[in-house]
Amino acid sequence: MKEAFDILSRSIADVRRNEPMSEHTSFQVGGPADVMVLPKTVEEVRIVLKTARYLDCPLFVMGRGTNLLVTSKGIRGIVMKLSDNFSGLTFDGNSVMAKSGTPLSVLVREAARRCLGGVEFLGGIPGTLGGAVYMNAGAYGGEIGDFVEEVFLTSAAGDLVLQKNEMDFGYRHSILAAVPLVVTGVRLKLIPCDEEESLKKVEELNARRREKQPLEYPSAGSTFKRPEGGYAGTLIEQTGLKGLRIGGAEVSTKHAGFVINRGGATPEELIALIEEVQTRVFQASGVWLEPEVKIVGER
Ligand SMILES: Cc1cc2nc3c(=O)[nH]c(=O)nc-3n(C[C@H](O)[C@H](O)[C@H](O)COP(=O)(O)OP(=O)(O)OC[C@H]3O[C@@H](n4cnc5c(N)ncnc54)[C@H](O)[C@@H]3O)c2cc1C
Repeated sequence: MKEAFDILSRSIADVRRNEPMSEHTSFQVGGPADVMVLPKTVEEVRIVLKTARYLDCPLFVMGRGTNLLVTSKGIRGIVMKLSDNFSGLTFDGNSVMAKSGTPLSVLVREAARRCLGGVEFLGGIPGTLGGAVYMNAGAYGGEIGDFVEEVFLTSAAGDLVLQKNEMDFGYRHSILAAVPLVVTGVRLKLIPCDEEESLKKVEELNARRREKQPLEYPSAGSTFKRPEGGYAGTLIEQTGLKGLRIGGAEVSTKHAGFVINRGGATPEELIALIEEVQTRVFQASGVWLEPEVKIVGER
């Protein structure tokens, strides 16, 4: 890994060795990334991709780590973080071109300032545009895919642009689950709105979140995808698992759809609790809950 660190450090300012992932994930857990690199430009992203290919080194791309559960052993190879270091918006009429590291809250607020909205439902989701497009993030009946026009991608072999209809957007799904491409930018089409109305809507939705969700504890949001015809939280509650704990990991007593870190949870405790919930819900209802949270790192 020293070689990857040395090569990347020659052209990119922020490259770190043995970087604790607990400082880069909303669960606040996770062992070290061998090398973490935080590029600022698309050119630097290309350098990272080419370096990983040249060294035949595994590469993991992340945004703000709000949908990740990283194991104690951490992540081998290079982690490329595209977050505040890779953020920016350019408005053009009703369209906005966003660098993929832009936080969703910044997008929503800056759009409202220009009397553009429609995406208020994204305002309380703590991730980046890149992570949101990868996940087709959504809430309160909206999904980011509905507003995407084009996605700008890159790989070690070159750049490409996919149109919305080529993204295979579905429930918490995009084509990016199947192809190892890095999102560098997203063009969204927004809807003209009143600034105050838009900001009010964001605040109302955020208040609903604060009321219903355990935002006071580290988590990765909803732990499981919504099963067909129901809600994960309801099934978990019906199975009597609200408040179930393994070490510092807990099925939230406020919202059973959230596994939270009550303090000092290890990744393995969080994973064990997720598996326990899956098994017991399956025994009780025949439904196998699929995690929405991505478990990454050496097991
Ligand atoms: C309190 C809380 C509430 C939440 N509420 C919601 C909600 O209402 N709705 C919802 O959908 N989600 C919600 N989430 C989950 C999470 O915020 C979203 O999935 C978000 O879109 C993830 O963005 P991120 O930047 O943190 O991505 P990360 O967690 O860093 O990564 C997620 C996935 O995207 C990939 N990825 C990230 N950036 C890129 C890129 N530039 N190019 C290619 N791949 C990339 C990663 O490899 C990974 O597979 C919530 C999370 C928390 C903690």
